[in-house]
Amino acid sequence: MSNDFDTIIVGGGLVGAALACGIAAKSWPVFARGLRETTGIDIGLQQNGGYDFCLTADEWDARSEEMRLVRRHTRGEFEYEMLDNADLRARIPQVSPEVLGASYSRHDGHVNPLLLLHALHRRMQALGCRYYPNRRVAAISHEPGVFSVSAGGDRLRAARVVLSAGLDNQRLAHELGMHVPVAPLRGQLLITERVENFLPCATLQLRQTREGSLQIGDSHEDVGLDESTTLEVITRLAARAVRIFPQLSGLRLQRAWAALRVMTPDGIPIYHASEQCPGAFAVSCHSGVTLAPLHAGAVADWISGDQPHPLIAEFSAQRFDISNT
Ligand SMILES: Cc1cc2nc3c(=O)[nH]c(=O)nc-3n(C[C@H](O)[C@H](O)[C@H](O)COP(=O)(O)OP(=O)(O)OC[C@H]3O[C@@H](n4cnc5c(N)ncnc54)[C@H](O)[C@@H]3O)c2cc1C
Repeated sequence: MSNDFDTIIVGGGLVGAALACGIAAKSWPVFARGLRETTGIDIGLQQNGGYDFCLTADEWDARSEEMRLVRRHTRGEFEYEMLDNADLRARIPQVSPEVLGASYSRHDGHVNPLLLLHALHRRMQALGCRYYPNRRVAAISHEPGVFSVSAGGDRLRAARVVLSAGLDNQRLAHELGMHVPVAPLRGQLLITERVENFLPCATLQLRQTREGSLQIGDSHEDVGLDESTTLEVITRLAARAVRIFPQLSGLRLQRAWAALRVMTPDGIPIYHASEQCPGAFAVSCHSGVTLAPLHAGAVADWISGDQPHPLIAEFSAQRFDISNT
Protein backbone atom coordinates (compact mmCIF):
# COMPACT_ATOMS: atom_id res chain seq x y z
CA MET A 1 0.00 0.00 0.00
CA SER A 2 1.42 3.43 -0.90
CA ASN A 3 1.70 6.26 1.60
CA ASP A 4 -0.98 8.94 1.82
CA PHE A 5 1.63 11.63 2.50
CA ASP A 6 5.35 12.25 2.47
CA THR A 7 5.19 13.75 5.99
CA ILE A 8 2.54 13.89 8.71
CA ILE A 9 2.89 16.67 11.29
CA VAL A 10 1.02 15.89 14.52
CA GLY A 11 -0.17 19.17 16.07
CA GLY A 12 -1.08 22.38 14.26
CA GLY A 13 -0.05 24.90 16.94
CA LEU A 14 2.62 27.54 16.43
CA VAL A 15 5.38 24.96 16.22
CA GLY A 16 3.65 22.50 13.87
CA ALA A 17 2.32 25.23 11.57
CA ALA A 18 5.74 26.92 11.26
CA LEU A 19 7.38 23.57 10.45
CA ALA A 20 4.69 22.92 7.83
CA CYS A 21 5.45 26.21 6.10
CA GLY A 22 9.14 25.39 5.82
CA ILE A 23 9.91 28.78 4.26
CA ALA A 24 13.65 29.47 4.21
CA ALA A 25 13.87 32.63 6.23
CA LYS A 26 16.80 33.81 8.26
CA SER A 27 15.31 36.53 10.37
CA TRP A 28 12.07 37.96 11.68
CA PRO A 29 11.84 40.91 9.21
CA VAL A 30 12.32 38.56 6.22
CA PHE A 31 9.91 36.00 7.69
CA ALA A 32 7.20 38.57 8.51
CA ARG A 33 7.53 40.18 5.07
CA GLY A 34 7.26 36.75 3.40
CA LEU A 35 4.08 35.97 5.34
CA ARG A 36 2.56 39.34 4.46
CA GLU A 37 3.38 38.94 0.77
CA THR A 38 2.05 35.37 0.56
CA THR A 39 -0.98 35.54 2.88
CA GLY A 40 -1.91 39.24 3.01
CA ILE A 41 -1.69 39.11 6.83
CA ASP A 42 0.43 41.70 8.67
CA ILE A 43 1.42 39.98 11.93
CA GLY A 44 2.34 43.29 13.63
CA LEU A 45 6.10 42.80 13.96
CA GLN A 46 7.76 45.42 16.16
CA GLN A 47 11.48 44.88 16.65
CA ASN A 48 12.48 47.88 18.67
CA GLY A 49 13.73 46.12 21.80
CA GLY A 50 12.20 45.15 25.11
CA TYR A 51 12.29 46.00 28.83
CA ASP A 52 11.99 43.96 32.03
CA PHE A 53 11.02 46.20 34.97
CA CYS A 54 12.57 45.72 38.42
CA LEU A 55 10.64 46.98 41.45
CA THR A 56 13.04 45.84 44.18
CA ALA A 57 16.81 45.54 44.69
CA ASP A 58 16.48 41.74 44.69
CA GLU A 59 14.73 41.82 41.30
CA TRP A 60 17.43 44.16 39.97
CA ASP A 61 20.25 41.86 41.17
CA ALA A 62 18.55 38.73 39.76
CA ARG A 63 17.90 40.38 36.37
CA SER A 64 21.46 41.77 36.16
CA GLU A 65 22.86 38.30 36.80
CA GLU A 66 20.51 36.73 34.23
CA MET A 67 21.56 39.26 31.57
CA ARG A 68 25.26 38.73 32.38
CA LEU A 69 24.82 34.96 31.90
CA VAL A 70 23.03 35.35 28.54
CA ARG A 71 25.82 37.66 27.37
CA ARG A 72 28.47 35.14 28.46
CA HIS A 73 26.64 32.22 26.76
CA THR A 74 26.45 34.17 23.49
CA ARG A 75 30.16 35.07 23.71
CA GLY A 76 29.34 38.76 24.06
CA GLU A 77 26.97 38.96 21.07
CA PHE A 78 23.88 39.61 23.23
CA GLU A 79 23.68 43.34 23.98
CA TYR A 80 21.77 44.79 26.91
CA GLU A 81 21.69 47.76 29.26
CA MET A 82 20.62 48.06 32.91
CA LEU A 83 18.76 51.40 33.20
CA ASP A 84 18.10 53.25 36.44
CA ASN A 85 14.78 55.06 37.00
CA ALA A 86 15.98 58.36 35.48
CA ASP A 87 17.30 56.70 32.29
CA LEU A 88 14.16 54.58 32.04
CA ARG A 89 11.78 57.52 32.43
CA ALA A 90 13.74 59.48 29.85
CA ARG A 91 12.70 56.74 27.40
CA ILE A 92 9.22 55.90 28.77
CA PRO A 93 7.97 58.93 30.77
CA GLN A 94 4.83 57.09 32.02
CA VAL A 95 6.92 54.72 34.21
CA SER A 96 6.37 55.30 37.95
CA PRO A 97 9.14 56.85 40.10
CA GLU A 98 8.61 53.74 42.29
CA VAL A 99 10.22 51.48 39.67
CA LEU A 100 13.89 50.90 40.52
CA GLY A 101 14.95 50.37 36.91
CA ALA A 102 14.84 47.90 34.05
CA SER A 103 16.93 45.81 31.73
CA TYR A 104 16.74 46.75 28.07
CA SER A 105 17.77 44.64 25.10
CA ARG A 106 17.49 45.77 21.51
CA HIS A 107 17.10 42.14 20.39
CA ASP A 108 13.55 41.80 21.81
CA GLY A 109 10.43 42.29 19.76
CA HIS A 110 6.74 41.60 19.53
CA VAL A 111 4.27 40.08 17.08
CA ASN A 112 0.56 39.35 17.41
CA PRO A 113 0.58 35.56 18.05
CA LEU A 114 -3.03 35.11 16.90
CA LEU A 115 -2.25 36.75 13.55
CA LEU A 116 0.98 34.74 13.32
CA LEU A 117 -0.87 31.44 13.78
CA HIS A 118 -3.53 32.55 11.29
CA ALA A 119 -0.89 33.51 8.70
CA LEU A 120 1.05 30.27 9.18
CA HIS A 121 -2.12 28.21 8.66
CA ARG A 122 -3.07 30.16 5.55
CA ARG A 123 0.48 29.80 4.17
CA MET A 124 0.84 26.06 4.88
CA GLN A 125 -2.47 25.29 3.20
CA ALA A 126 -1.54 27.43 0.17
CA LEU A 127 1.65 25.36 -0.05
CA GLY A 128 -0.46 22.22 -0.39
CA CYS A 129 -0.51 20.90 3.20
CA ARG A 130 -3.75 19.12 4.14
CA TYR A 131 -5.01 20.22 7.58
CA TYR A 132 -7.15 17.90 9.73
CA PRO A 133 -8.52 19.95 12.64
CA ASN A 134 -9.93 18.43 15.83
CA ARG A 135 -8.41 15.05 15.11
CA ARG A 136 -6.50 13.73 18.14
CA VAL A 137 -3.74 11.29 17.21
CA ALA A 138 -4.31 8.34 19.51
CA ALA A 139 -1.49 6.08 18.34
CA ILE A 140 1.37 5.87 15.82
CA SER A 141 2.89 2.59 14.63
CA HIS A 142 6.06 2.12 12.62
CA GLU A 143 7.47 -0.40 10.18
CA PRO A 144 10.47 0.35 7.95
CA GLY A 145 9.64 3.30 5.69
CA VAL A 146 6.03 3.69 6.90
CA PHE A 147 4.39 5.41 9.87
CA SER A 148 0.66 4.70 10.44
CA VAL A 149 -1.11 7.44 12.34
CA SER A 150 -4.52 6.72 13.90
CA ALA A 151 -6.65 9.81 14.42
CA GLY A 152 -10.41 10.24 14.77
CA GLY A 153 -11.28 6.98 13.03
CA ASP A 154 -8.80 7.53 10.15
CA ARG A 155 -5.53 5.75 9.57
CA LEU A 156 -3.04 7.82 7.57
CA ARG A 157 0.34 6.64 6.29
CA ALA A 158 3.51 8.63 5.63
CA ALA A 159 7.25 8.08 5.24
CA ARG A 160 7.99 10.71 7.92
CA VAL A 161 6.22 11.88 11.03
CA VAL A 162 6.92 15.05 13.00
CA LEU A 163 5.64 15.39 16.56
CA SER A 164 4.68 18.97 17.43
CA ALA A 165 1.75 18.14 19.69
CA GLY A 166 2.74 20.39 22.59
CA LEU A 167 2.44 18.60 25.92
CA ASP A 168 1.29 15.37 24.23
CA ASN A 169 4.73 15.03 22.60
CA GLN A 170 6.02 13.09 25.59
CA ARG A 171 3.43 10.29 25.19
CA LEU A 172 3.65 10.14 21.38
CA ALA A 173 7.46 10.27 21.38
CA HIS A 174 7.60 7.33 23.76
CA GLU A 175 5.68 5.23 21.18
CA LEU A 176 8.43 5.99 18.64
CA GLY A 177 11.38 5.25 20.91
CA MET A 178 12.15 8.82 21.92
CA HIS A 179 12.41 10.34 25.39
CA VAL A 180 10.98 13.90 25.17
CA PRO A 181 10.47 15.22 28.71
CA VAL A 182 8.04 18.16 28.65
CA ALA A 183 5.97 19.56 31.50
CA PRO A 184 3.25 22.22 31.81
CA LEU A 185 3.86 25.64 33.40
CA ARG A 186 0.77 27.81 33.69
CA GLY A 187 0.71 31.48 32.73
CA GLN A 188 -2.21 33.84 33.34
CA LEU A 189 -2.87 36.91 31.19
CA LEU A 190 -5.16 39.91 31.44
CA ILE A 191 -6.47 41.83 28.44
CA THR A 192 -7.60 45.45 28.93
CA GLU A 193 -9.77 47.78 26.96
CA ARG A 194 -8.01 49.77 24.23
CA VAL A 195 -6.07 52.90 25.16
CA GLU A 196 -3.92 55.35 23.25
CA ASN A 197 -0.55 53.83 22.38
CA PHE A 198 2.06 54.75 25.00
CA LEU A 199 4.37 51.69 25.16
CA PRO A 200 7.07 52.03 22.49
CA CYS A 201 8.11 48.38 22.71
CA ALA A 202 7.58 45.02 24.40
CA THR A 203 8.13 44.54 28.13
CA LEU A 204 8.14 41.29 30.07
CA GLN A 205 5.26 42.43 32.28
CA LEU A 206 2.97 44.00 29.68
CA ARG A 207 2.59 44.60 25.96
CA GLN A 208 0.39 46.84 23.92
CA THR A 209 -1.08 45.64 20.66
CA ARG A 210 -1.19 47.82 17.58
CA GLU A 211 -4.93 48.23 18.25
CA GLY A 212 -4.29 49.59 21.76
CA SER A 213 -5.24 46.70 24.12
CA LEU A 214 -2.78 45.91 26.86
CA GLN A 215 -1.78 42.32 27.57
CA ILE A 216 -0.65 42.04 31.17
CA GLY A 217 0.97 39.00 32.73
CA ASP A 218 4.03 36.92 33.31
CA SER A 219 2.95 34.38 35.92
CA HIS A 220 4.83 31.06 36.09
CA GLU A 221 2.78 28.49 38.03
CA ASP A 222 3.60 24.83 38.51
CA VAL A 223 0.01 23.52 38.85
CA GLY A 224 -0.03 20.51 36.52
CA LEU A 225 -2.65 20.54 33.77
CA ASP A 226 -4.96 23.04 35.53
CA GLU A 227 -5.80 25.76 32.96
CA SER A 228 -8.08 27.85 35.17
CA THR A 229 -7.57 31.49 36.13
CA THR A 230 -7.36 32.52 39.80
CA LEU A 231 -8.41 35.74 41.46
CA GLU A 232 -5.21 35.83 43.51
CA VAL A 233 -2.93 35.87 40.44
CA ILE A 234 -5.19 38.23 38.46
CA THR A 235 -5.10 40.68 41.39
CA ARG A 236 -1.32 40.40 41.74
CA LEU A 237 -0.70 40.94 38.00
CA ALA A 238 -3.02 43.94 37.84
CA ALA A 239 -1.50 45.51 40.99
CA ARG A 240 2.03 45.12 39.65
CA ALA A 241 1.08 46.67 36.30
CA VAL A 242 -0.39 49.69 38.14
CA ARG A 243 2.75 50.03 40.28
CA ILE A 244 4.79 50.26 37.06
CA PHE A 245 2.31 52.48 35.18
CA PRO A 246 0.02 54.34 37.66
CA GLN A 247 -2.07 55.68 34.73
CA LEU A 248 -3.54 52.15 34.31
CA SER A 249 -5.39 52.24 37.66
CA GLY A 250 -8.79 53.13 36.16
CA LEU A 251 -8.54 50.81 33.18
CA ARG A 252 -11.19 48.12 32.59
CA LEU A 253 -10.20 44.49 32.09
CA GLN A 254 -11.92 42.82 29.14
CA ARG A 255 -10.95 39.25 29.98
CA ALA A 256 -8.42 37.02 31.71
CA TRP A 257 -7.18 33.66 30.53
CA ALA A 258 -4.67 30.99 31.44
CA ALA A 259 -2.65 28.63 29.26
CA LEU A 260 0.02 26.01 29.74
CA ARG A 261 3.56 26.60 28.53
CA VAL A 262 5.38 23.59 27.07
CA MET A 263 8.55 23.44 29.17
CA THR A 264 11.62 21.25 28.68
CA PRO A 265 13.72 20.55 31.82
CA ASP A 266 16.35 23.17 30.89
CA GLY A 267 14.01 25.59 29.07
CA ILE A 268 15.91 25.05 25.79
CA PRO A 269 14.15 23.55 22.72
CA ILE A 270 14.25 19.85 21.90
CA TYR A 271 14.87 18.95 18.23
CA HIS A 272 15.16 15.18 18.20
CA ALA A 273 15.35 12.50 15.49
CA SER A 274 14.44 8.97 16.52
CA GLU A 275 17.20 6.41 16.14
CA GLN A 276 14.81 3.53 16.75
CA CYS A 277 12.28 4.70 14.11
CA PRO A 278 14.18 6.59 11.34
CA GLY A 279 11.92 9.26 9.86
CA ALA A 280 10.33 10.24 13.21
CA PHE A 281 11.11 13.67 14.68
CA ALA A 282 10.03 15.55 17.80
CA VAL A 283 10.02 19.33 18.18
CA SER A 284 9.21 20.79 21.61
CA CYS A 285 9.82 24.27 22.95
CA HIS A 286 8.35 27.06 24.99
CA SER A 287 9.25 29.89 22.60
CA GLY A 288 7.16 28.88 19.58
CA VAL A 289 6.59 32.52 18.63
CA THR A 290 10.20 33.69 18.86
CA LEU A 291 11.51 30.60 17.09
CA ALA A 292 8.93 30.48 14.25
CA PRO A 293 11.40 31.67 11.54
CA LEU A 294 13.92 29.06 12.69
CA HIS A 295 11.27 26.32 12.67
CA ALA A 296 10.10 27.31 9.19
CA GLY A 297 13.75 27.52 8.04
CA ALA A 298 16.65 25.50 9.45
CA VAL A 299 14.55 23.03 11.47
CA ALA A 300 12.19 22.27 8.55
CA ASP A 301 15.26 21.86 6.27
CA TRP A 302 16.81 19.44 8.77
CA ILE A 303 13.61 17.36 8.88
CA SER A 304 13.16 17.24 5.11
CA GLY A 305 16.88 16.65 4.40
CA ASP A 306 18.81 13.45 4.76
CA GLN A 307 21.82 14.69 6.69
CA PRO A 308 21.93 15.43 10.43
CA HIS A 309 22.51 19.15 10.95
CA PRO A 310 25.52 19.77 13.26
CA LEU A 311 23.94 22.75 15.05
CA ILE A 312 20.52 21.11 15.44
CA ALA A 313 22.24 18.04 16.95
CA GLU A 314 23.10 20.19 20.00
CA PHE A 315 19.37 20.33 20.80
CA SER A 316 18.82 16.56 20.78
CA ALA A 317 16.92 15.13 23.76
CA GLN A 318 19.96 12.91 24.34
CA ARG A 319 21.18 15.64 26.71
CA PHE A 320 18.57 14.34 29.20
CA ASP A 321 19.80 10.74 28.93
CA ILE A 322 21.53 10.07 32.25
CA SER A 323 23.67 7.33 30.67
CA ASN A 324 25.46 10.17 28.77
CA THR A 325 26.70 11.81 31.98
C1 LIG B 1 1.41 32.12 29.07
C2 LIG B 1 2.23 31.87 27.85
C3 LIG B 1 3.17 32.81 27.44
C4 LIG B 1 3.95 32.58 26.32
N1 LIG B 1 4.85 33.52 25.96
C5 LIG B 1 5.62 33.31 24.88
C6 LIG B 1 6.58 34.29 24.48
O1 LIG B 1 6.70 35.36 25.09
N2 LIG B 1 7.35 34.01 23.40
C7 LIG B 1 7.24 32.87 22.71
O2 LIG B 1 7.96 32.67 21.75
N3 LIG B 1 6.34 31.92 23.05
C8 LIG B 1 5.54 32.11 24.12
N4 LIG B 1 4.62 31.16 24.49
C9 LIG B 1 4.60 29.84 23.79
C10 LIG B 1 3.94 29.80 22.43
O3 LIG B 1 2.76 30.55 22.50
C11 LIG B 1 3.61 28.37 21.95
O4 LIG B 1 2.34 28.04 22.41
C12 LIG B 1 4.51 27.26 22.47
O5 LIG B 1 5.73 27.36 21.83
C13 LIG B 1 3.94 25.86 22.23
O6 LIG B 1 3.64 25.68 20.87
P1 LIG B 1 3.34 24.23 20.31
O7 LIG B 1 2.84 24.40 18.92
O8 LIG B 1 4.49 23.32 20.56
O9 LIG B 1 2.20 23.65 21.28
P2 LIG B 1 0.67 24.00 21.38
O10 LIG B 1 0.42 25.44 21.22
O11 LIG B 1 0.21 23.31 22.62
O12 LIG B 1 0.07 23.29 20.10
C14 LIG B 1 0.02 21.90 19.98
C15 LIG B 1 -1.07 21.55 19.01
O13 LIG B 1 -1.13 20.14 18.94
C16 LIG B 1 -2.44 19.69 19.11
N5 LIG B 1 -2.36 18.36 19.71
C17 LIG B 1 -2.03 18.02 20.98
N6 LIG B 1 -2.06 16.69 21.13
C18 LIG B 1 -2.42 16.18 19.92
C19 LIG B 1 -2.62 14.86 19.45
N7 LIG B 1 -2.48 13.79 20.23
N8 LIG B 1 -3.02 14.70 18.17
C20 LIG B 1 -3.19 15.78 17.33
N9 LIG B 1 -2.99 17.07 17.73
C21 LIG B 1 -2.61 17.24 19.01
C22 LIG B 1 -3.11 20.71 20.03
O14 LIG B 1 -4.48 20.70 19.87
C23 LIG B 1 -2.47 21.99 19.49
O15 LIG B 1 -3.18 22.48 18.39
C24 LIG B 1 3.81 31.36 25.59
C25 LIG B 1 2.86 30.43 25.99
C26 LIG B 1 2.09 30.66 27.10
C27 LIG B 1 1.08 29.62 27.50
